Amino acid sequence: MTRRKQIYEGKAKVLFEGPEPGTIVQYFKDDATAFNNQKRGTITGKGVLNNRISEFLMMRIAEIGVPTHFVRRLNMREQLVRAVEIIPLEVVVRNVVAGSLAKRLGMEEGAPLARSIVEYYYKSDALGDPMVSEEHVTAFSWASTHELDEIMQMALRINDFLSGLFVGIGIRLVDFKLEFGRLYDKGEPRIVLADEISPDNCRLWDSKTNEKLDKDRFRRDLGRVEEAYQEVARRLGILPESGPVDIRATDTLQ
Ligand code: UDP
Repeated sequence: MTRRKQIYEGKAKVLFEGPEPGTIVQYFKDDATAFNNQKRGTITGKGVLNNRISEFLMMRIAEIGVPTHFVRRLNMREQLVRAVEIIPLEVVVRNVVAGSLAKRLGMEEGAPLARSIVEYYYKSDALGDPMVSEEHVTAFSWASTHELDEIMQMALRINDFLSGLFVGIGIRLVDFKLEFGRLYDKGEPRIVLADEISPDNCRLWDSKTNEKLDKDRFRRDLGRVEEAYQEVARRLGILPESGPVDIRATDTLQ
């Protein structure tokens, strides 16, 4: 097999040059990190599940007319995506008080918000992804006012859609993180949803029991981490017939 050119290795994914110009292969690892890389671990089978979960959610989101970078899944751990110019923002949408919001404002986790909140964080590992305002985003030209408008509208649409989708399978979408990129169409930039949507970057609570079905199980040492990711895939109807997957993380990585 020919060795592919690696473009980037992140915390949970490796990016390779795709088979055609303008494409990238996203390889999903089992590695997990939290608290700005201070906590590291492995969640067996996570890469396989996140590849499937993100494929499923990106396809549903594309169906409602929100453009995404997703092209198709290639195998258990890899998907083909369009190469985009990443906008250096983490766009967080919140429906319920949790995580850093609870900490920052000294609030109890679990209180529903009267309206959904969109927050922006500047993507920088060295700085620990500091929260920024719209003013910072436009003043530093990370995105134009028009692009930011579009990003916020897309984020809220995705939130409405995903909240409903998860309600249907007994899950509360507490909050989640999105990333966006620019795709150049005949020279014209267009904003598209990029990265991934999975239990790594969403808070998903069981509607009845409030049990956490996401990466907080890893962050907070709650145990049964693999099972939580499997449960989300199972409820979405995409867990392989053969049951939980547990393949070596190196199977297709080269
Ligand atoms: N999130 C993420 N990557 C980050 C920071 C947050 O995917 O670098 C997600 C996180 O999983 C949660 C949401 O964004 O679903 C809000 O996270 P929060 O700001 O509460 O930060 P946390 O305390 O979880 O790091």
